[in-house]
Amino acid sequence: MSRLYTIGSAARAVLPAGGALPAVEARRWTAGDAEPLPGAIALRRAAGPAAADFEPAPAASALRRAPGPAAAAPAPGPALAPGSPTRLVDSFGRRLTYLRVSVTDRCNLRCTYCLPEGAAHPFGDRDFLSADEIEALVGALVRLGIERLRLTGGEPLVRKDILEIARRLKALPGVRNLALSTNGTELERMAPALRAAGVDRVNVSLDTLDPETFREITRRGDLGAVWRGVEAALAAGFDPVKLNAVLLSRHNLADVDRLAALTLEMPLAVRFIEMMPTASNQHLQPDEYLSCDEARRRIEERFGALEPADSGPRTGPAKAFRIPGARGQVGFISPLSHTFCADCNRLRLTARGELRLCLFADRTYPLRPLLAEPDAARRDQALEAEILRLLAEKPAEHMLLQGNYGNLVSFMQIGG
Ligand code: SAM
Repeated sequence: MSRLYTIGSAARAVLPAGGALPAVEARRWTAGDAEPLPGAIALRRAAGPAAADFEPAPAASALRRAPGPAAAAPAPGPALAPGSPTRLVDSFGRRLTYLRVSVTDRCNLRCTYCLPEGAAHPFGDRDFLSADEIEALVGALVRLGIERLRLTGGEPLVRKDILEIARRLKALPGVRNLALSTNGTELERMAPALRAAGVDRVNVSLDTLDPETFREITRRGDLGAVWRGVEAALAAGFDPVKLNAVLLSRHNLADVDRLAALTLEMPLAVRFIEMMPTASNQHLQPDEYLSCDEARRRIEERFGALEPADSGPRTGPAKAFRIPGARGQVGFISPLSHTFCADCNRLRLTARGELRLCLFADRTYPLRPLLAEPDAARRDQALEAEILRLLAEKPAEHMLLQGNYGNLVSFMQIGG
């Protein structure tokens, strides 16, 4: 049976059973609507400028480098007990507890802001880390203090051994949470198995609820399949299921309140992300850029002032809110308009085994050669020592606002 959700103001066809996009009823609410919404969601007019709730993180450039090497961190030693303080502390005193693990740079979609027209596989060979190599490299980082992992790509679900990788990483002592970012195309098929393999959370990239716009943005995608993936993720018990929408002023402006409206009745966290510049999306800059402030303004105009929401311990850059009375949350990730580098808690591992210290850094650091050491204890010790040494190179902040996006060509290389 088709499920009906109310998501926006344009009439949309309801797809067949199991593939139903949320059907749309006309709900042209404004902040001043007097009538309570069906489901008794009372609207309130925004009390003041939305921006007041944004507290920009202190500029990372205000960070002071601690004297001496980054080795804030002690020398490599025995594994940390889960919950112990991380030894991954960079030279600005930031504690690094979160690792994004790219398992491939291949993707089955071709999003316009991720890849330029005609790009096929622009990032080199398929010599990606094996499951064994991923386990060894991530294991070293986890022993040093990483507690939360995210599998990403390219599209992680195009890797045949993704369940094996998930199982192994979740089993590493000290891993408290394993998340996955996906475009959702394979999620309907894989959601239960991913849950069984130990994945705790999924983020689905979904920039629009309009099938044609979806195809335009992704250059090939089927929105119905992705939506069935979202439903499968909810049914499989992932908590939370987050939807990530990159804001594109010319493509999904109208989707901002439709996506936000999903949270009224569904336990979803919909997050809006400012499009970041890379070498691959220069054709979209600056016209496609839309700030989170503008997205929030649109949402509040329609649904009333957003309330700050408790999204649990803050582990990432999203600021979480709730439409009054809604089941789910909306969030904003504003790397350009409100930089959050001062709070950075993350490291990244590329699919070929390089450590990336900042998404927009000028270089990555190969760790894979250290795996050649046949003695596991010596290998692990060398890896840990090298990682601790490299922390000194983690920059204070990205330089996007100065027009420097480092050596990142596309997010497909590293998964955001
Ligand atoms: N395939 C997976 C997915 O779709 O989530 C993981 C990789 S994808 C590169 C990770 C996220 O980065 C997606 O949500 C995508 O929309 C986002 N992304 C890609 N390029 C971006 C850009 N230039 N600015 C902001 N987000 C971007």
